[in-house]
Amino acid sequence: MRIHHLNCGSLCPHGARLINGEGGLLARGTIVCHCLAIEAGDGLVLVDTGFGVEDARRPRQLGAAFRALMRPRPEVGTTALKQLEGLGFEASDVRHILTTHLDLDHSGGLPDFPAAEVHLFAPELEAALHPSLRDRARYVGAHWKHQPRWVEHGAGGEDWFGFESVRILPGIDAEVLLVPLLGHSRGHTAVAIRCGDGWLLHCGDAYFHHGEVSTPPSCPPMLRFFQNLIAADNVARKRNQERLRELAVAEGQAVGLLCSHDPHELKREQAKSGAAVAPA
Ligand SMILES: [Zn+2]
Repeated sequence: MRIHHLNCGSLCPHGARLINGEGGLLARGTIVCHCLAIEAGDGLVLVDTGFGVEDARRPRQLGAAFRALMRPRPEVGTTALKQLEGLGFEASDVRHILTTHLDLDHSGGLPDFPAAEVHLFAPELEAALHPSLRDRARYVGAHWKHQPRWVEHGAGGEDWFGFESVRILPGIDAEVLLVPLLGHSRGHTAVAIRCGDGWLLHCGDAYFHHGEVSTPPSCPPMLRFFQNLIAADNVARKRNQERLRELAVAEGQAVGLLCSHDPHELKREQAKSGAAVAPA
């Protein structure tokens, strides 16, 4: 089983030092959208989709405030669709998409794979389809106006290293679990993928910087501020981040952690996987 680590769009707000922990105060920071494409038997499974083709063509659909603050750079060439085509796949090869949550920087590629089933934790779909006033800016309805084939998953599964988990896609050649980690959004979930003897845990936006799951923890101030600001349940978010830190200490050999937005982790995982090289 092969996993491709893709950056499906970058955000480049000012304040590199406050965002990445290095670089100038006025320089632009780098926030990536780290998505996974898992080759599973005769199809592909995507974990998150970053920005999509329509986001690149009509960036205004992402909203004025988000664009002014976060400086997204959606480009057609960095969409999951174009990167997968570059690897020799077609849109129809993507059978399943697992979304950690439906924030606009994670769901933009959904319309590029209209035939795929879209799996998510049920409370996230409810939050996105019926957003509260506070949540309206984080979700972009254009990302699901094609009426995706939603597959909602509820709580109540098996224990996974002390976390609740929901086993999904039993029929494919990959062992995949949803691991709900609420807090950042109302139905946020991580995705665990078995890799040989160990696991890879895509933590979505449960943390933003690798320092947050290190001991002692650290986080550049702008990222800390932003996470506190946008959290749907900040107490749950902080508690879940602490649990991830404990997991990294106790099971660091068995479970590799990564999040959506850390360029350092993306580079590390691409180097480990031999980068995204087109199959011969
Ligand atoms: Zn995000």
